[in-house]
Amino acid sequence: FAKERGRNQHQFYTSELSARAQRRYAIEKNLRRALLQNEFFLLYQPKIALRSGRIVGVEALVRWQSADHGVIEPNDFIPIAEDTGLIVPIGQWVLEQACRQAAQWQQLMPDLRMAVNFSPRQFQDDTLVKQIGATLQSTALAPDALVVEITESLLMGDSTKLTPVFEALLALGVGISIDDFGTGYSSLSYLQRFPIDNIKIDRSFIDGIPGNRDSVALTQAIIAMAHALEMSVTAEGVELESQMRFLKDAGCDEMQGFYFSRPISAEAFESLLRQTKAR
Ligand code: C2E
Ligand code: MG
Ligand code: MG
Ligand code: MG
Repeated sequence: FAKERGRNQHQFYTSELSARAQRRYAIEKNLRRALLQNEFFLLYQPKIALRSGRIVGVEALVRWQSADHGVIEPNDFIPIAEDTGLIVPIGQWVLEQACRQAAQWQQLMPDLRMAVNFSPRQFQDDTLVKQIGATLQSTALAPDALVVEITESLLMGDSTKLTPVFEALLALGVGISIDDFGTGYSSLSYLQRFPIDNIKIDRSFIDGIPGNRDSVALTQAIIAMAHALEMSVTAEGVELESQMRFLKDAGCDEMQGFYFSRPISAEAFESLLRQTKAR
């Protein structure tokens, strides 16, 4: 009896596994098609300077408009795109689209900066810096208007290959920002090794503000550390006025989150820029 149950369980696991593998394979196939058929689009979330209350930047966040499944969020396809290497061409599409859009919006707001998310996998491509340079040129966007958002996981490994890449980005004038800061369980020594301009405090810390004493202490410590290292600080996931007030008082430079705006369409962001300009 036990043996039979064991066999059934085994069957259950293999069929579940292969169902998952099949689903992954189907998504991979669809991702390839999505690239060819231009099914990706970008939403834009503003970054606000806490001192002035002004829009100073914007982050591009990719979405996939699938014919079969409607709009798919990045968390549901970026990991598969990373595993399959498709993140490289998808990332290139995102970069080009974001740069072109930024160049256009700079006519409304000349010092607007565009942030683009990059996966570690994209840094394994030896032509990355060349691609970024070429994209900036073809879209006529000034390099200092582009910010590259990366996560700590990229900086944890061997730095010998990465250092020249960062130095080349620095030489171009492109900004580097550490996304989801504080969640990577990594040593802080990379802050010394790489020319980083900005730290984005992870939403999990902002969540606990202003009620949780540990979140408050950690947020204050991150802001102090970043400023001592001459980096600016952005808080992500700001949803409440009380969080905004706390961050402003704590000297945080920028905020991003649903409190000011969710990620919105290009059209909606543009009208936000026009409103700001009219005021
Ligand atoms: P991220 O770069 O940390 O982006 C912030 C995420 O938090 C976004 O989710 C955004 O919609 C969400 N968010 C912003 N403000 C708030 C808030 O106040 N409250 C809450 N609860 N959430 C907020 P989204 O757009 O689903 O993106 C998820 C992640 O997918 C991004 O995290 C980024 O790591 C990745 N991603 C998005 N676009 C790209 C891309 O073009 N390339 C790559 N490689 N990754 C991307
Ligand atoms: Mg980001
Ligand atoms: Mg983030
Ligand atoms: Mg995140």
